[in-house]
Amino acid sequence: MKCPKCKKPSELQTKRTIANGRGVKRERCCKKCKQRFYTTEMFDTDIETENSKFEKMIEELNNRLSSKETEVKNITGALLNFKALLGKVKSL
Ligand SMILES: [Zn+2]
Repeated sequence: MKCPKCKKPSELQTKRTIANGRGVKRERCCKKCKQRFYTTEMFDTDIETENSKFEKMIEELNNRLSSKETEVKNITGALLNFKALLGKVKSL
């Protein structure tokens, strides 16, 4: 694999299995500029599974966020009502 920095050939430094042996992570070093970088080899199906997990998490977070937005709007609305009420009391 070529160096991402200078595009010259790199060589393997270390290699270890990840994801219970379903993936391989390699540390490589550029022969020319000595830049270190990592590559990950995984099954496409595993990547798709991980992606769909992340998509679900993002969807959940977005849902939680929008419910919090509603909460904040309700609280802000209540505060504004209270402020208006205070204004009325003061003008009495
Ligand atoms: Zn390089």
